[in-house]
Amino acid sequence: MSYDDNNIFAKILRGEIPCDEVYRNEYVLAFNDIAPQAPHHILVIPTGKYVSIDDFGRNASAEELQAFYKAIDEIVEEKGLKEKGFRCIANTREHGGQEVPHYHMHILGGQPIGPMVSK
Ligand code: AMP
Repeated sequence: MSYDDNNIFAKILRGEIPCDEVYRNEYVLAFNDIAPQAPHHILVIPTGKYVSIDDFGRNASAEELQAFYKAIDEIVEEKGLKEKGFRCIANTREHGGQEVPHYHMHILGGQPIGPMVSK
């Protein structure tokens, strides 16, 4: 899958549409999901052009990979999610139900998140 520069997260990264930012550095942007599924629902995205978690894992630099996972750690700490826990979800392509073709990790927390997969 080639990267689509017109996807909504690319527009957020370019500042063309706003987001409710919670974290930003050279490699990572995180913002609140516009349709939250839990009391805390944050999307963490790389600033680089990666379509999916496997694209990111294969092609990102060591600096990008480290920054991404450090950001998740810092966000869950800052939001007070460490003690009770949280769930990270990376929906991927058709069977994963991915809607936005720019890699993003959902962080969900603040209450029990429920079954891992709906039956
Ligand atoms: P996914 O199905 O994993 O691709 O998830 C895409 C997520 O992006 C959904 O949870 C949407 O609610 C969220 N979303 C879409 N547009 C925006 C936006 N402009 N700002 C914040 N979140 C968004």
